[in-house]
Order: sequence, then C-alpha cells, then structure tokens
Amino acid sequence: MTMYEFRSPQANTLNRDSDLDSGIISHEYCHGLSRRLTGGASNSNCLNGDQEAGEGWSDLCSLFVTASATDTRDTPRGLGVYVLYQTPDGRGIRPSVYTTNMDINNFTYGQIADRNLLTIPHGVGFVWATANWEVYWNMVDRYGFDPDLYKGNGGNNRYFQLMVDGLKLQKCNPTFLDARNAIIQADIINNRGANVCLIWKGFAKRGMGINANDGGDIRTTDVTEDFNVPPECLNPTNAPSTSPSMQPSSLPTQPPSRPPSKQPSSLPTQPPSSSPTQPPSSSPSQQPTTAPTASKSGKLGKVQKVFD
Ligand SMILES: [Zn+2]
Repeated sequence: MTMYEFRSPQANTLNRDSDLDSGIISHEYCHGLSRRLTGGASNSNCLNGDQEAGEGWSDLCSLFVTASATDTRDTPRGLGVYVLYQTPDGRGIRPSVYTTNMDINNFTYGQIADRNLLTIPHGVGFVWATANWEVYWNMVDRYGFDPDLYKGNGGNNRYFQLMVDGLKLQKCNPTFLDARNAIIQADIINNRGANVCLIWKGFAKRGMGINANDGGDIRTTDVTEDFNVPPECLNPTNAPSTSPSMQPSSLPTQPPSRPPSKQPSSLPTQPPSSSPTQPPSSSPSQQPTTAPTASKSGKLGKVQKVFD
C-alpha cells in the first residue's frame, strides 16, 4: 500500500499525510478485500477493464467505517477531505460528494461512458459507489443505524455484509450489473430476499434498473441505463406471498453465467411475504423508479488522480 503526502492547497500550511486520513486508509485496505474476494479464493486478478468497480467498493468501505449516527441520506460525504483541508462535507477528491440527493449528486450509470466527465477507474468507481450509497440508505431507513461495526445489526451493518458477500459471489471481471446481481443474490441467500426490492430501488435510481444493459463486457462505452424496478417492487405489499423464485430450494448458488441484463426473467424480483418492516410505497426513498429529472449540466471535469 502506498500512502501519499498531499500538497497543501494553502500557503504557509503543512502538507498533510494520508496516513492520518481514516477515509483513505480504509479505502486502500478495501482494495485488498475486493480484489481477493472477487472471482474466487484462488484468483486475485479479477478486477480489470474500464467497467471495474474496485474504486467504488473502496469508497464505500471508507464511508461505512467513518459514518456517524447523526448522518442522514442527504448528508454530504466527501472522500479525502482531511488531506485537502476541507470540512467533512467537502467534495474531496471525487466528482461530487456522496449523497442520495439528486440535486447535489446526479450521477448515473449511463455517464460512465463519458471520459470527459468521469475518469477510469476513480470516476467510474464513484458512480458504482453512488448507486450503492442509495442501497445503504434504503437499508438504514428500514433497519436503523448501529454504530457497532463488529456486532451491529443495523441497516448499515446489513448492507456492508451484503456488499462483502456479493464480492464473494460475483464472477471474475464483473460488470456493474454483474456486481449488482451478486448483491441481490447475497440477500436471497442470507435473508431469503427480504431486501431485494430495497436493493433494486437503490440501483434503479442510479440507472442500473431491470432493463439496464452492460453491453455484455467490461467496457463502459456500450452501457444502457434504465430506471425501472421489477413490477413486484412497485407495490411490495401486494406481491405474491409465494413465488417459486423466492423459495430456498430454487435459489441460485452461483452468479449468473451470462450478463444479467440479458436475463431479466431469471433475476430475483420479488420481496418475501415475511417482510414486516417494508416501508410504504409512498416513502420518498422508495420512489426512484422513474428517470431522474435533475439537470446533468453540472459537469465537474476530470478528477485529479491523487490516490489509487
Ligand atoms: Zn483506490
């Protein structure tokens, strides 16, 4: 792991050492996590290509371990703010702060093809993390926040477990949609799909909905975004109580062998009937099923690569 010293942006102030930025430390450690878990235990070379989410997982680890009980889904969270002499709500070293507020961070899946807007790998990974941040908050809104990182049972802890288990399940060189499906699959295996619709709604809000297409490879230039969730997730309280796809005996144990965007009928689509705390469909956090209307005009340009 290489930790850099950041040049101070102000005169007469000291450069800052990224060893003292907990967000950067946790980001770097998480590269080891994602790289070693993806594609099986015997392969540590499974995160390649332009549509590679490693930077996103690392940002998510950083956000996760530095979260505060007073945060909300609208709280701006920046990466690398300490080394840049910014406050915690500063933009840091990413194209925008992490937040579910589309008026502030309106990045979506289709934009990863734009090299003038998003760099590889950090800008592209930022979009993956932005989508996962939606899922994180859908989970926290349902289960609450538990500050105990080791034994907690809040939505934050549950999300992190799903993310890590998704790493274990996904194939070598996954696209964003492969990785999305692995998280859904992890929830089916761990929780009998109790959170499948929360996951779909988070991803769909950021363009990785049911009809999104990754182009079948790990390039970024042939992706198609989509903002729709499976029909069953539009009104979860009316979902069938017993769907064959939700039965444990029929649950998949391996990641999809083909790009998930080409197999919409095989995707887990329904919440379980035993989901007592399913939020009402009128919850603001549960309405990301249509294309966002926020302006995309606020291009922020390339992000300087300041750490890996
Ligand atoms: Zn990194």
